[in-house]
Amino acid sequence: MGEHDIIRRYFAVPELMLARPEIELGIGDDAAVLRIPEGKRLVTATDTLAEGTHFPTGAEAESIASRALAVNLSDLAAMAAEPLCFTLALTRPAAEADWLAGFSRGLAGLAGEFRCALVGGDLCRGPLQVTIQIHGLCEPGRELRRSGARPGQAVFVTGYVGDGAFGLAGLGIATPGVSLDAPPADLPADCRAHFHDAFYRPRPRIAFARAAAALIASAIDVSDGLLGDAGHLAAAGGVGIRIDPECLPYSPAALCCAGEASRLHAALRGGDDYELCFTAEPENAGGLMAIAAGMNLPLTQIGEVVAGEGFQVKGMEVGGGLSFDHFQNHR
Ligand code: ADP
Ligand code: MG
Repeated sequence: MGEHDIIRRYFAVPELMLARPEIELGIGDDAAVLRIPEGKRLVTATDTLAEGTHFPTGAEAESIASRALAVNLSDLAAMAAEPLCFTLALTRPAAEADWLAGFSRGLAGLAGEFRCALVGGDLCRGPLQVTIQIHGLCEPGRELRRSGARPGQAVFVTGYVGDGAFGLAGLGIATPGVSLDAPPADLPADCRAHFHDAFYRPRPRIAFARAAAALIASAIDVSDGLLGDAGHLAAAGGVGIRIDPECLPYSPAALCCAGEASRLHAALRGGDDYELCFTAEPENAGGLMAIAAGMNLPLTQIGEVVAGEGFQVKGMEVGGGLSFDHFQNHR
C-alpha cells in the first residue's frame, strides 16, 4: 500500500472528514483552510503519544487512536473550547491493513461523537508515534485558563481520580506507590474492564466545561496526577491549593481493588485521569453541581484555594520527595 492509498482508505473517509461550515478545505491539498467564525477565537493544542512511553508496546490500534484523540480533546475541555478539527501525524514501522483499519475506527468513534473533523496529516515510517494537533473554538475572553485561582475559592474535580494509574497497573506498568490488591488477572472482570477503559478511553469533559465555564475561575485537565496539575493551578494563580484526602472521589473499581494508600498515590502521583480540576467561587458550587448532575457526571469538591503557595494535603506533609509514608501502614 502506498502512502496515498493509506490516506484514501483509512483517513480521507467520511467518518473522519466530517463536514463543517468552518472547514473550507480539508484533506487532499497541501494544507487545510479553515474559516474562523466572526466573534470566535481559535484554540489550539497538540499532544504526542509514543509507543513504550505513553502506551504499552503492542497496544491495540483502536485503543491507541482513541486515547490519542481523547487526550487532545481533554486539552480543549480544560480551555472550555468547542472541538473543531484536528491533524494527525502518524509514524509507523509498517503499513498493515488491520492495524490501520483499527486505528481509523478508534479515531472515528471520538471524532464523530465530538464533531471534530480530520483535516490533514502526515505519514512517516519509523517507531510508532502519534501526534495530533487539535483546534477548537471559543468566544473571546471565555476560555478557561490556569491562572484564575484566588484564596477562598473551592477546588473541584470531575469524575474519579486514580483510575488512569490503576489502568496502567492493570497493564503491568507500575506507578510508585500504586498497587492493586491482586494480580490483574485475579481482579473482578468488571473492575479490570473499568481500569482498562479509564486508561484507553478517557472521557474528555467538553460538555461539562462548555456548560460550566462561566462559573469556573481556573481549570486544568489532570494528565499527571493532582499533585502536579493542581500544583500548576496554584503556581499560575500565585496561591496555595489544599486538598482534603478524605474527599477524593474514587471509582467503585478503585474502592474494590486497591487500598487507601495506593488510591491516594494513584490520585496524586498517577496520571492519565483526564478529568478536569478547577477552582470556583463557593457561591457557584450549587450551580456547578446541578450542571454535573444533569450530565450524570460525578463532581466533587476536594479542597480549597488558600493564601500561600504550592500543593498541600490536609493532615500531611507533601515534601520534595512526595512521601506519604504514614499512609504506608494504613492500607
Ligand atoms: P504533502 O507532501 O504536501 O505534505 P501529502 O502527500 O503528505 O502532502 O498528503 C496529501 C494530503 O493527505 C494532505 O492534504 C495531507 O494533509 C493529507 N494527509 C497525509 N497524511 C494524513 C493522515 N495521516 N491523516 C489525514 N490526512 C493525511
Ligand atoms: Mg506530507
